[in-house]
This record gives sequence, structure tokens and C-alpha cells, in this order.
Amino acid sequence: MQSLTNRSVVVRKREMSFMEKLYLPAILGGMALTIKHLFKKKVTNKYPEVKRIFAPIYRGVHVLKRDEQGRENCTACGLCAVSCPAEAITMVAAERKQGEENLYREEKYAATYEINMLRCIFCGLCEEACPKDAIYLTDRLIESKYDRKKFIYGKELLVEKIDERIDISKRKKNYTMA
Ligand code: SF4
Ligand code: SF4
Repeated sequence: MQSLTNRSVVVRKREMSFMEKLYLPAILGGMALTIKHLFKKKVTNKYPEVKRIFAPIYRGVHVLKRDEQGRENCTACGLCAVSCPAEAITMVAAERKQGEENLYREEKYAATYEINMLRCIFCGLCEEACPKDAIYLTDRLIESKYDRKKFIYGKELLVEKIDERIDISKRKKNYTMA
């Protein structure tokens, strides 16, 4: 097929030399390389005992924020879902009922809100798009799981716990600096 760029290279298979057919030099070379690395400084961490220090703008699992009174900020406007290039966000909006003013800040709220963490590429566009300061990416890691369905995070995992409020002010500052 004709190439659209001139970057493609035709690779030809050449005959192996006698030494190459022996494989021994290649095996010894590989072993020498392995032994050399045994004495070098390790670049890997023994996770989970040793946790890696992430950059201040590292983007991990999302959090749906509450306001100072503990009410959910999200108004289910859908802007985060529309801006998401991976189409990882889905939600169902509902009207706030009388007596629920202490639960939801706006008259409309997300009855369900889900992020498929297997689709998410942690670009942060949902955070950028949100007009209500409702969604932020934290420095938390996604836990490993065997079941793919468990990577769909619902409100029970995303909405911040009242007694475990997450300080995102430092994060916002780092974003501005970046
Ligand atoms: S971080 Fe990016 S990919 Fe992930 S949910 Fe937000 S917009 Fe979508
Ligand atoms: S998180 Fe923000 S952008 Fe997404 S639906 Fe809620 S208010 Fe709208």
C-alpha cells in the first residue's frame, strides 16, 4: 500500500550469522545486562508498602464536592458529561423536593451519577467544565479489582464523605500555576 508520509521503512529479513544461530552470545549479553542492573539504584517502589510521591497536579479518582453546609454541589447540568472525551460520565437528574434543601444546594441534583473508571483518561476536562465547583480530580488511586463492573463508580464512591472533606484549594492553586 502506498504510504501517505515518507516515514515508513521496508524491513527485510536477513539471514542469521553462525554466531547468532548459536544464541549463546545473546543469552550471555542478556545475563550481563541483568547483573549490571542488580547493582543500580532501583526505579521501582515496593507498593503498597512504599507509596510513590506524585506530582502536585497528578489527576486521580474524582470527588463530587459538598458545600460548607454539607449539601451536594452538583446540579446535574451534564456539562462534565458533554465535555468528557471518553464518554465516561452518565447521570440522571432529579428535582429537589421540599425538605431536601439540606441535602442538595440547587433545585436540581444528580439522582445517579456514574463514572466509568475504565474509560476515563483522567484528562480533567470534567473538572474544567463544571460551573458549580462540584467535581474535582484528587490524588487518590483507583483500587485494583477483578470485576469490570466495579470500576463504574457511583455516588456512594464519588460524593465526599461529610467527615472526610477533601481540601482542593491547594490543587486549584497548582492548576493555576501549571
Ligand atoms: S477526567 Fe476526562 S476522561 Fe475522565 S471523566 Fe473527566 S473528562 Fe472524562
Ligand atoms: S459535576 Fe458539575 S458539570 Fe457535572 S453535572 Fe454536576 S454541576 Fe454539572
